Amino acid sequence: MNYEEETNKKKSCLNQISPSFCAAKWLDSHIWLGNGRTASCHHPKAHTIPLDEIAVDPSALHNTAHKKNVRRLMLDGERPEECGYCWRVEDIESSDVFSDRVYKSMRYSNDQINELSKFDPDHNVVPKRVEICFDNLCNLSCSYCNSEFSSTWYNDIESNGPYQNLNTSGGKTYTHNKSGKMPYGVKNENNPYIDAFFKWYPTIKDTLDELRISGGEPTRSPWFWKLVDSVDSENHEFSVNTNLIMTDKRIEDFLAISSKFKQFSVFTSCESVGKNAEFVRSGLDYDLWKQNLQKVQHHNKKINTTIMMTISALSVWTFAEFIEEMVELRKQTREYFSDNKPYYLLSTNILRFPSMQSVNIISQSMKDILADKIKMSLEKVRDHVDSNEANGIQRIIDYLYHVDKSYEDFDLLSEKQTDFKSFVDQYANRKNMDMYTYMNSGFIKFYESIV
Ligand code: SF4
Repeated sequence: MNYEEETNKKKSCLNQISPSFCAAKWLDSHIWLGNGRTASCHHPKAHTIPLDEIAVDPSALHNTAHKKNVRRLMLDGERPEECGYCWRVEDIESSDVFSDRVYKSMRYSNDQINELSKFDPDHNVVPKRVEICFDNLCNLSCSYCNSEFSSTWYNDIESNGPYQNLNTSGGKTYTHNKSGKMPYGVKNENNPYIDAFFKWYPTIKDTLDELRISGGEPTRSPWFWKLVDSVDSENHEFSVNTNLIMTDKRIEDFLAISSKFKQFSVFTSCESVGKNAEFVRSGLDYDLWKQNLQKVQHHNKKINTTIMMTISALSVWTFAEFIEEMVELRKQTREYFSDNKPYYLLSTNILRFPSMQSVNIISQSMKDILADKIKMSLEKVRDHVDSNEANGIQRIIDYLYHVDKSYEDFDLLSEKQTDFKSFVDQYANRKNMDMYTYMNSGFIKFYESIV
């Protein structure tokens, strides 16, 4: 069975339970321990984990009353509002485009999925994939990130004041610093969510498929090192989302972790090349990032490396070149190891928040040009990417051609464009980056077209 047939089969397995059923709602969990919030995947807005629930049972880090309610809606065939990203993709009239509801469920067998549908929605589920972040300590301040996830963003707003004159719902994120304040202090001392995690983890680790640590930049967090120092010979996969902007010493310590787990996987983020990438991800050194990426992969060919690409109105301009560069790196590493493994797997995400940085703010004629360019790059690299990667890239192409507003975006186009221009001006100024040096002529043409 080829990948497309498998994907179609998974979709029909899910749809036999209900047209809105998604295994990730039961088996996947993202938990932000610093401020006590959770979601099933990175699309829905995270909700607060009630302290009284974890006081009774630390598994409430995953099984909140809110999530149980959403599971009930899915079993009843209703579309929970928080999963709007998937409904929007599913409403695109193209039979070969699948939403993450299907992709994320692909990780589980039909038997596992059918078993879930038999549980009472109030039942506490032991997840298979858990992603946590301890805090927001981070050395970068990417354009679409904010104080909640990056201490560098937090410090910028503390030192230079909030951004001015941003009026869309996403733009307002930069006009205050509230969400970046760590409720339990920078060191996260006496944080009941972290205490609950260290109680819960030993009870789930033997049946976990994957524990993934995100941030901030995890390698900056003392809690990250406390966790890795406390484990050995673990049978689950251990994955880390890292920006890879670190010293040689830190990279060495980081790579030493790989021997403690059955599988070590590194996820890192980039989606545009050179100066464009450095503009999108303030603090990034593109050449260092590439060097460290190769250093990680060349340490041991068993390490899995994945590049998480977030396509936005700032990054889309050199996305086509980026795909080609990553495929070139893949070819070199395959030669180095004389191996056919898909090194540097490409994983595509379309930015939705803040909506003023979405590709939807670009005029349709420019989006058509960008989609044509990405389509040409996809054809060039098609023999070197797998069908999942190709499908992700195709999703961007389809999105650029056909979608002009994301499901949960209620802001007017003109307001988003005005906010975008104002944001970019302030961002470039604070970071001391001259936009005309960092961004290509396609972007500049778009930027100057905004009145
Ligand atoms: S957003 Fe999609 S993938 Fe995530 S939990 Fe909802 S339906 Fe599943």
